Amino acid sequence: MRAIIVGAGIYGLLTALHLRKEGVDVVVLERGSIPNPSCASVDRDRMIRAAHPGQPGLTRRVADASAEWSRLSDELGEGFYIETGTLTFASPCLDFAERSLAELEAAGLPYERLNPDEVSYRYPVFRTDDVDWALYTRDGGVLRAGRIVGAVAERLGELGGVPRPHSRVQAVSSDGRSVTLMDGTVISGDAVLVCAGAWVPELLPEVARDVRPIRQEVAYVAPPDDLTAAWTRTPCFVSTGQAVDGWGLPPLDGLGVKVGAVANVRPSAPENGITAAPGAAETLWAMVGPRFARWNEYRPTHADVCHFTLAPNETFILRPFGAGGLLVSCCSGSGFKFSSLVTREIADAILGKRSLTSLAEEYR
Ligand SMILES: Cc1cc2nc3c(=O)[nH]c(=O)nc-3n(C[C@H](O)[C@H](O)[C@H](O)COP(=O)(O)OP(=O)(O)OC[C@H]3O[C@@H](n4cnc5c(N)ncnc54)[C@H](O)[C@@H]3O)c2cc1C
Repeated sequence: MRAIIVGAGIYGLLTALHLRKEGVDVVVLERGSIPNPSCASVDRDRMIRAAHPGQPGLTRRVADASAEWSRLSDELGEGFYIETGTLTFASPCLDFAERSLAELEAAGLPYERLNPDEVSYRYPVFRTDDVDWALYTRDGGVLRAGRIVGAVAERLGELGGVPRPHSRVQAVSSDGRSVTLMDGTVISGDAVLVCAGAWVPELLPEVARDVRPIRQEVAYVAPPDDLTAAWTRTPCFVSTGQAVDGWGLPPLDGLGVKVGAVANVRPSAPENGITAAPGAAETLWAMVGPRFARWNEYRPTHADVCHFTLAPNETFILRPFGAGGLLVSCCSGSGFKFSSLVTREIADAILGKRSLTSLAEEYR
């Protein structure tokens, strides 16, 4: 069997790796370099959180996804998952913590409900005077996303898979059996998997009609030096509970605290590029910073832009077309963490070991 995979983000590469291990002849075509810094998967890190309110299928699968990342770390010889735990703040502004707690209860998963004094004692970097309580989960943490993509591409090459950088696909045949590159070269196979992230709508406008490319800015902020030790014990924060809700990850690799804000997500085609507007880091920090004690002493250093995809109800889209085609789009801000599981299941479906139809349903 020969599978052609369009896109060397985490979905394209991991699916290719699973297929290759089963003896499939795989070709991965990537429009940019591999790893491509413009794709959603190549960022410093991505978060795993335990609760996904209103999406019990996701909440149930977090433990399996984390275990799979640990297994992959062992296979690739590098620690890709740092379990920091997560914190979600409950305030009069937002019910996200309340809904997260209900979701964990329903799933029988562990959590702690902390009062503001307990939060300040354990995690002194936060300001808690406007907080009702906070939800702590030990499960959850940081995935070293960019490193993972690089290591998976390398492993795929070692196993005889063919990652081809600078090979932009111009068109995919409607029977899902071949692709045409920009120079007119046609590459044929038994299956074509389109894992093209935010570029999916331009490549398959009909099949991906409800997939929206989205743009999000993230900022890096340097904490005051004397808070370095406190930050090493600080979990990821899923929701800051502010009127403008924010999220973030503790400092790693000397790059500072990483923050994003829900309000900073908007429709945009990836052609608009990944350069943040001047002052973007300061603007983001002005939204999220007030959750932190001494926030005026932090120094915003830079901002990045990233494109990913959303669908109306934020569910995975796994949509067959023609005899051999499959569109894969994770369509939510949870795409990275579940890629460890979903890509294995997609590979199994392509090999006829399981049904594809039920797969997207399991992640609702
Ligand atoms: C700011 C931000 C924060 C996020 N936070 C989290 C998080 O905390 N946890 C989490 O789980 N998820 C998170 N996500 C979501 C997650 O990063 C994405 O869902 C996931 O990385 C998407 O992977 P992908 O392989 O589908 O797409 P991508 O990584 O975008 O890969 C698609 C690839 O296809 C290539 N391509 C496109 N068109 C063509 C073509 N015509 N020919 C050849 N190649 C092509 C592109 O160049 C690209 O390399 C976040 C996303 C963003 C933007």
